[in-house]
Amino acid sequence: MTTTHTPDRESSGRVWLITGASSGFGQALAEVALGAGDTVVAAARRPALLDALAAAHPGRVFPVALDVTDQAQIGAVVAEVLRQHGRIDVLVNNAGRGLVGAVEETTEQELRDLMDLHFFGPAALTRAVLPQMRSQGSGAVVQMSSMGGRFSFAGVGGYSATKFALEGLSEALALEVAPFGIKVLIVEPGSFRTGFAGGGALQQSAALPAYEETVGPVREVLPSSDGKQPGDPAKAAAAILAALEADRTPLRLALGSDAADAILANFETSRQEALDWEPVSRSTDFD
Ligand code: NDP
Repeated sequence: MTTTHTPDRESSGRVWLITGASSGFGQALAEVALGAGDTVVAAARRPALLDALAAAHPGRVFPVALDVTDQAQIGAVVAEVLRQHGRIDVLVNNAGRGLVGAVEETTEQELRDLMDLHFFGPAALTRAVLPQMRSQGSGAVVQMSSMGGRFSFAGVGGYSATKFALEGLSEALALEVAPFGIKVLIVEPGSFRTGFAGGGALQQSAALPAYEETVGPVREVLPSSDGKQPGDPAKAAAAILAALEADRTPLRLALGSDAADAILANFETSRQEALDWEPVSRSTDFD
């Protein structure tokens, strides 16, 4: 782990550990936390990208090198943050990337790599911070999921699977840690103007002609949305902070009109299907 500054023990407020803090939502959340007077441990694969932010907030931004798919790094980084700062109040499991491909097109390795990034890394980070949060009787874990963590569509099955996994884990986690004063917030953004769709960040599985009609449009639309997405990451970060500070923090927070529309529509479809088949559901109990 590398830190570029000596910590300022006088700084008050919460200590945040944010993964993928060099770009997009992670960077916006770092800025919102700094605006609230908090201290940010900004984790990134290339921590030098955070030097300018650290220089602008002396003693309040601490860049650390962390690839969240490297389980060995996770325990060491959390231990070092606790040694230097004494506490972690907010863990934001934000690092991530997109993957486009039909289920048949997506390889085992692609699935496993994305599970490492969106599920096993965040699970390990969560386990690592919980003992200290439990002992201090407060804390928050923010899980950056997606509207694709609530429902899926052609071409994003692998991506959704990883976010569904994170959401399932987090739903149970919220119940387990509430008695210790720890909040869990699952964030479900729609399409936001971050680095997600551009600069080669979006991974595409090798295409099969059979899926040209169903997945082909997604392969085109996602990259071409870069820079034109409706969602503003700064507003998203402010909304996340407000939700964390609310008396009744929601378990899930959809962000963006597109996410609100699609998630609500999905509820209706799912509810109707459950009602249509309810007699069959109820018919399978023992007499
Ligand atoms: P960005 O591409 O702007 O940021 C992603 C960040 O994750 C980068 O800092 C990137 O670092 C980092 N990252 C990627 N892989 C790793 C890794 N193995 N270890 C550590 N850091 C890594 O995209 P967003 O800000 O949009 O993405 C943040 C989260 O938001 C993701 O979990 C994404 O799934 C989610 N999301 C985004 C949506 C959107 O429309 N933008 C919609 C729904 C969800 P590096 O520069 O090193 O690659």
